[in-house]
Amino acid sequence: MNSINFQKEFTLKQGLLFVVSGPSGAGKSLMCQEYIKKNPKTLLSISETTRKPRKNEINGREYYFIDEELFSKRVNEDYYLEYAGKFQNHYGTPKKPITQALKEGRDVILEIEPQGAAQVRKAFPSVISIFVLPISTNELIKQIKGRKTETEEQINLRLSDLQKEIEQIRFYDYIIINRFGHLKESVKLLEDIAQSERCSVKRILKQKEGKNE
Ligand code: 5GP
Repeated sequence: MNSINFQKEFTLKQGLLFVVSGPSGAGKSLMCQEYIKKNPKTLLSISETTRKPRKNEINGREYYFIDEELFSKRVNEDYYLEYAGKFQNHYGTPKKPITQALKEGRDVILEIEPQGAAQVRKAFPSVISIFVLPISTNELIKQIKGRKTETEEQINLRLSDLQKEIEQIRFYDYIIINRFGHLKESVKLLEDIAQSERCSVKRILKQKEGKNE
């Protein structure tokens, strides 16, 4: 019998692409940052936005903060993997770092809202999409108000968007209920999802057939 290296044969060569969405204040950023700390090979994509930085944000860390003119130029140049307008601002994911990392076998996380997630699903049907929710709306309101980074008007805008976002859950693969104060639990769930996706026969065979886009 010919020698076969099963490990080589049945291991994903490309990285996994994750989309993480959820209402503002659900704690998804913290969860993703904590995940990256534990899994430093994974790339957490840094989006570009026309939103003004909050007082604790640094250009190049949370976002690249750019103006509307540059944003439109980038849209026309097909620079973004996806982009969306949200809360009177624009947000976009630069395409190159993502495709490069996936090719190198690194996993990638995009923390983006549902309109963007839908565009990514079209471009990469193999994307794994995760919706993060807090335990309750009361918890969510407490979190948004507690972080004191938005005006009352901005808070109301974010809360009024909640119902619309929740209606999008059916398009996602997984839900993580993020219990505040139990960050480790949520990160562990994300790790478990990643592990099981790496063992998915469907996924492995699709990639072998070159259908992983
Ligand atoms: P925030 O202004 O609170 O940082 O983000 C507002 C919303 O925009 C969040 O739901 C966040 O996930 C989403 N977002 C951030 N970056 C991107 C992006 O590049 N594309 C899309 N579609 N949404 C993004």
